[in-house]
Amino acid sequence: MSPLNILFAASEAQPLIKTGGLADVVGSLPVALSHFGHDVRVVLPGYPQAIERARPLHPVATLQIPGSLEPVRILEGWMGERTRIYLVDAPGLFDRPGNPYTNASGSDWEDNPERFALFCRAIVAIALGHAGLNWRPDLIHCNDWQTGLVPALLASEGNRPATLFTIHNLAYQGVFPRSVFDRIRLPKSLWAPKGLEFHQNFSFIKGGLAFADWITAVSPTYAREILTPEFGYGLEGLLRHRTDRFKGILNGIDYQEWDPASDPALPQHYDADTFDLKKINKLKLQQELGLPQDENAFLLGHIGRLVEQKGVDLILGILPGLVKQQNVQLVLLGSGDPKLERALRMVAAEHPERISAYIGYDEPLAHRVEAGCDCFLMPSRFEPCGLNQLYSLRYGTVPIVHRTGGLADTVVDATPRNLLDDTATGFVFSTPDQHALWRAVERAIEFHKRPPVWWEKLAVNGMKQNFSWDTSARHYQEIYWQAINAPAPNPLTTVTVE
Ligand code: ADP
Repeated sequence: MSPLNILFAASEAQPLIKTGGLADVVGSLPVALSHFGHDVRVVLPGYPQAIERARPLHPVATLQIPGSLEPVRILEGWMGERTRIYLVDAPGLFDRPGNPYTNASGSDWEDNPERFALFCRAIVAIALGHAGLNWRPDLIHCNDWQTGLVPALLASEGNRPATLFTIHNLAYQGVFPRSVFDRIRLPKSLWAPKGLEFHQNFSFIKGGLAFADWITAVSPTYAREILTPEFGYGLEGLLRHRTDRFKGILNGIDYQEWDPASDPALPQHYDADTFDLKKINKLKLQQELGLPQDENAFLLGHIGRLVEQKGVDLILGILPGLVKQQNVQLVLLGSGDPKLERALRMVAAEHPERISAYIGYDEPLAHRVEAGCDCFLMPSRFEPCGLNQLYSLRYGTVPIVHRTGGLADTVVDATPRNLLDDTATGFVFSTPDQHALWRAVERAIEFHKRPPVWWEKLAVNGMKQNFSWDTSARHYQEIYWQAINAPAPNPLTTVTVE
């Protein structure tokens, strides 16, 4: 098979702009795919942070896009040294403080549908060769609802590139009232139950789920879970209808950026052969965060967006039991829901010797937490893939996880049998409630009291797992070829014979 031109479309990408795991994927999967010889480029909205970090940039096209008062420029630059990037420069829509989706006080930007509809239209222009770039993609890899209109707008075009839509989190769908659909002047034909209509509302994500040539979700278990009403948010029927073109592919992680043997954020490098050095990171982390420095303390960590999904309330629920334990400490790093932020600050103020809470977003600190802790808590109620447990495994920080989605696919419970055959990598619990979480934490605490070689063995088992992108990138490549060779029919013009 010949090398492909692939355009990755997403609303965030590390190291330009990041709010969660999507950015990590868009920062690293294109690099892995380029190792197979493909020309992979990324297109992002031109947020100020992205423009700043991708410099030098030069304009390569100017587009007139319906609904935009000003001409939209396409700026070309590089993301790190590795990936060519296009930024869609529409200052009226993207040049603002806050994050890609919300203002500084955490509320969604009211014009998000306008912002991402314009983004999708710019991508369509590039896809069809209307932007005047000297490059056309064979396939557009769309990610999450912000790019959902791309497959819908392309479906009726002849000579279009193939489309793949990846679901990173089905909980975020981009659903707006019908009036928004009219306001952004999408083709009227798209307003249909088989199109973008979703219970009389307008759904961005349906553009991806109904129209893309192929669909993926970011882990095999999550791909199965969202076919059920419990996890499918009413989209399970549509997904079931498309199962012949739907697959779960586990995310990988960037082994260069997340490597305890060379990570520039760490005070002390280590690897599986020098595991003993990891405790220096613990001592430095305790010092940095104002906890008593004690290499024998059992240090638990958690990093994440403070939203219900992540189960931070379950962590709060187990704190009374946790602080009664001898020599157990906890570090929390997160931002999000103001109520949860307040709650974390309060528990840290009540137990300054035991709990440290850093409210905010701090990438280098996230690396030090991963390296300095003994265990990482991830009690997510659902988790499409989850990256922090993968970083934890890589850093010899034993994950404690709820058996769901990608967590179920990546962490092997420390049962006596799994310990014996060296497959155990963490502590897994089955129901997302605080009692089950507490039992798993107790198991970890007890296990940590055994002779240290036991703990080291468990942690090193995790360090030896391979979650690099190589295998997953190959799976994506297979799907790209299938999508190109056998495009899906347009659901709006296909007559189904019952
Ligand atoms: P999600 O995409 O649902 O947020 P993931 O586990 O897939 O969850 O990815 C989260 C990513 O965001 C990880 O790289 C994690 O380290 C990072 N992250 C989340 N919150 C913070 C924070 N407050 N500071 C630094 N990094 C964070």
